[in-house]
Amino acid sequence: MNVHIGVVIVVLIIGHILTFLLLASDISQHALTRFDRAFLWGKASQIAGWSLILCGEFLWPVVLFPAGNALLFCGWGLETLAMLSLRVRVARPHAAFYCLLVGLSLLFLAVPGPDPGRRAFLLCVLQTTMFAPPGAALLFSRFETSALQKTAGVIYALCCVTTLYRGIAALNGTIDVYRPADSPLAALLFGTLLPPLLLLLGGMGYVLIKKEQLSRTLRVFAETDSLTGLSNRRAFFSLAGEYVLRAAAKKEPYSLLMIDIDNFKKINDTHGHAAGDGIIAGLAATLRKSVRETDVACRFGGEEFVVLLAGCDLPEAFRIAERIRATVERSDPASIRHTVSIGIATERGGGTDLDALLRLADDRMYRAKHLGRNRVLTEG
Ligand code: GH3
Ligand code: MG
Ligand code: MG
Repeated sequence: MNVHIGVVIVVLIIGHILTFLLLASDISQHALTRFDRAFLWGKASQIAGWSLILCGEFLWPVVLFPAGNALLFCGWGLETLAMLSLRVRVARPHAAFYCLLVGLSLLFLAVPGPDPGRRAFLLCVLQTTMFAPPGAALLFSRFETSALQKTAGVIYALCCVTTLYRGIAALNGTIDVYRPADSPLAALLFGTLLPPLLLLLGGMGYVLIKKEQLSRTLRVFAETDSLTGLSNRRAFFSLAGEYVLRAAAKKEPYSLLMIDIDNFKKINDTHGHAAGDGIIAGLAATLRKSVRETDVACRFGGEEFVVLLAGCDLPEAFRIAERIRATVERSDPASIRHTVSIGIATERGGGTDLDALLRLADDRMYRAKHLGRNRVLTEG
């Protein structure tokens, strides 16, 4: 089946317009970063480039093909730089490197050499050099990545391979990179259009990854207490709820610490609300240092904290609570001495009633207050 190249170019143009609109409409509600802007300019440049190439099918090919290709190179440069920014802190040297690649591409396009095959090969090498950094960053990042980001990385790696293939084919004289003739679909795709189609998919990946990052940020905001950086009450119930079911299935014990700062109203009244905030943040830091990865520490309310100690029986929980109490008693931020009262409740294994355990820990914490504060209570 012979396919007119114009049909595939129209598909590319529509795909780029849709990706442009998807990002522009979604991100406009939030702050548009400069890389989002670079991406959108990149898309606009590619839309214009492909449109010129499409027009070149019918008139002034000598002018419109090089002009369209020049716009494509500018667009690819901007888009791949934005893509790179998803995983790497892009600085001036990166931007300068991309400017150099685009500049060299434009030079090669503007100055026709004696050997068109070699020129096309060099252009494909420059293009591959643009695609490689975001591909590598998405595939080999040391930081947490999602399946979506890995997929985009694979697409960029394929872009590199297929572009190099085109370059080598051009060098051998088997395809004309600048003016792909109508040909059977498979030949058209593999010889000419696979890299731009893959790049279109990779660009859609940018929009999806941005959405993924945004929803992750919103989730962190929704689950984190802004003053202390600990989990908030809502996150605690979700994390602890999941843990409790796992622990019950394994008949594993766990303990809850209910921690409340003593006479906090007086601290606020004497030293001011900002100093009170400092004390709350300081206690959160102490808790963070005292618990393990598997535990859950949360700011439960004003100056009240709850810690779930995974796999901890009562004696072990008491030791940890006593260490926290003693550390707070010794700490003296801005010369404000303060103490905490702690109630402990332990589930020996098999139980899942988190609310009942919280109530028990709370009762014991209040009893610790009645007994004179600055103490840990495991019964009563
Ligand atoms: P007790 O020893 O019985 O716990 O006495 P308390 O004064 O600590 O009593 P209570 O727990 O009722 O007081 C809590 C106070 O914490 C009241 C509130 O003004 C203050 N508070 C709540 N949230 C914050 C906060 O985010 N920052 C500051 N600075 N104060 C807060
Ligand atoms: Mg208090
Ligand atoms: Mg309180």
